[in-house]
Amino acid sequence: MNAGKTTYPLGWENYHACASYDREEWFRVPTTFTNGMLKINFTPSHNSVYFAYFTPYSYERHLDLIHQAQLSPDVKVEIVGKTFEGKNIEMLIIGKPRKDKKIIWVIARQHPGEPMAEWFIEGFLERLLDQDDAVSKKLLDDAVFYVVPNMNIDGSIAGNLRASASGANLNREWQKPTKKYSPEVYYVRKKISETGIHLMLDVHGDEELPYNFIAASEGIPHYTEFLAIMEAKFIGHWMDICPDFQNTYKYPLDKFGEANMTLCSNYIAQQYGCLSLTIEMPFKDNAEMPDKKYGWSSDRSKLLGASVLNPVLKVLPQL
Ligand SMILES: [Zn+2]
Repeated sequence: MNAGKTTYPLGWENYHACASYDREEWFRVPTTFTNGMLKINFTPSHNSVYFAYFTPYSYERHLDLIHQAQLSPDVKVEIVGKTFEGKNIEMLIIGKPRKDKKIIWVIARQHPGEPMAEWFIEGFLERLLDQDDAVSKKLLDDAVFYVVPNMNIDGSIAGNLRASASGANLNREWQKPTKKYSPEVYYVRKKISETGIHLMLDVHGDEELPYNFIAASEGIPHYTEFLAIMEAKFIGHWMDICPDFQNTYKYPLDKFGEANMTLCSNYIAQQYGCLSLTIEMPFKDNAEMPDKKYGWSSDRSKLLGASVLNPVLKVLPQL
């Protein structure tokens, strides 16, 4: 009834809702958005049906992801700190740290209502931990990964779209996080300052744009030619190997010096001078390669997460 009053009303234009009878297969059903009201137009063929904004990624599945990953000989689980409500913030350390290795951070789901970000991480981890995959083997020879699959555990359990349990938008807390209001960012930021960093990937979903795209750090005060070259190389190579990723439709570029420095990727690029990217996937579909039945799905999010290892390998020597 009040869809017009939500944070992203344009998200309802050309939107197909997710539906499931068995909570395993999530298919798309048509909607209309008129006078601020979202109508799901669907006659179910069973007596009970679930609807969701996007295929859910449950806390149970999150715990399975963390604990299955730790069985790999390449993985150590570490608790970085506690959330506002006292839950563990889990980090996976992948690959044995060595002084000359590059340090890569991958975080997801600062915005808890963007579950495609954790599906992305699941696909990313499956490939990175596949010992038969040459790209992954090469990456683990030369880099250590620090991965936080869910930055906003409390918000995910509560079903929030953007906020943590304290009410914080975690991706606006990177300049001055506090233990009290935004412990999730406070502890991860502290850990980054201890490990150092050569590459940051921060994974999100976008309500409005039906595309996969990257937001880079062109608007930060310390923007350099090095960053511009590395961003172009990463984006170009990802496009070459994955038709689901593109660079035409994206957020308007920030003017030099006008970036929002409270965002993770801008803060990290400014603070460490390293390549730092926000990855966005659609809630709707990839309009360039639409799928009528499933739209942008958990499976496609996983495959995109697996594919990102190629551009990471490509830029690694220069990071
Ligand atoms: Zn987001």
